[in-house]
Amino acid sequence: MSKNIKKIGVLTSGGDSPGMNAAIRSVVRTCAYHNIECIGIYRGYQGMIEGDFKEMGPRSVNNIVNKGGTILKSARSLEFKTPEGRKKAHENLVNAGIDALVVIGGDGTFTGAELFNNEFGYPVMGIPGTIDNDIYGTSHTLGYDTALNTVVECIDKIRDTASSHNRLFFVEVMGRDAGHIALNAGIGAGAEEILIPEEDLGLERLLESLQKSKASGKSSSIVVVSEGDKIGKNVFELKEYVEEHMPEYDVRVSVLGHMQRGGSPSCFDRVLASRLGVKAVESILEGKSNYMVGLIQDKVALTPLEQAIKGSSKIDEELLRVSDIMTT
Ligand code: ATP
Repeated sequence: MSKNIKKIGVLTSGGDSPGMNAAIRSVVRTCAYHNIECIGIYRGYQGMIEGDFKEMGPRSVNNIVNKGGTILKSARSLEFKTPEGRKKAHENLVNAGIDALVVIGGDGTFTGAELFNNEFGYPVMGIPGTIDNDIYGTSHTLGYDTALNTVVECIDKIRDTASSHNRLFFVEVMGRDAGHIALNAGIGAGAEEILIPEEDLGLERLLESLQKSKASGKSSSIVVVSEGDKIGKNVFELKEYVEEHMPEYDVRVSVLGHMQRGGSPSCFDRVLASRLGVKAVESILEGKSNYMVGLIQDKVALTPLEQAIKGSSKIDEELLRVSDIMTT
């Protein structure tokens, strides 16, 4: 264990995701376990620039393991993108005696942390917290599993209406650059078609698929659409397009939106957050820096931040095949 680290700061940054609180709790309690002080930094990097710090003991994180959102609040800080902003943030950390930082967020958060490390040689460790699961170096990001469960529950409810009225529903889910939510929740909820950014199905094939589905006797259809899909039309335009070409269909649109980001974290996300928090703090105490802690083949593992930022989390080819077979 490193003798030099006496105080560790923790912050949440970028979009919130279920499990962030469980990760904060884990960082705070792991610090307490190793007799290290822990400082909560409010509102991400903006709070670092403004010195918005609060000491956190193990009892300060009671009853948050089950809560969505983040008790430390999150923010997007433009000032941190400037050298002056980062300099101010560094001065505040040094003045408060904080020796290292655990940042919980997505790739933007990691980009900021890596830059900060490069500029000041300051120890940083990242925990991936984003529902999109679009980070290289971990099979699961915090909040992804919860979001999948939320989406599946919503689609199940939408299907009740779809099948009662013989309707076709386009359900838009989050995922600007990655279709993990759409693909997994689509399979889990038995969608007839799944549109993801990684694959361009094409409008003609979509129509063909819907026609096939209708001809095979299906009375309702659910098409799950990732918000970043490449078909070239948003869900509302897709509705118009399909209604024009298949007037027999009564088409509806449901955009699930921010509800996917909220809610009590699943057991998986709580356990993952606990594991990643322990590993983040203990890695810092071992003298490591500039890594992201993640889950690789169900083991907690470190990936250099640079790789986590630059790499992409590929869509699972086997799942694509399963999805094709399930939509037959
Ligand atoms: P999400 O996946 O939810 O979008 P994120 O961590 O990618 O999460 P961003 O808003 O992209 O969210 O980044 C969070 C914060 O990280 C930004 O508000 C900014 O303060 C900091 N940040 C992002 N990119 C940079 C950069 N190039 N240089 C310095 N700081 C950055």
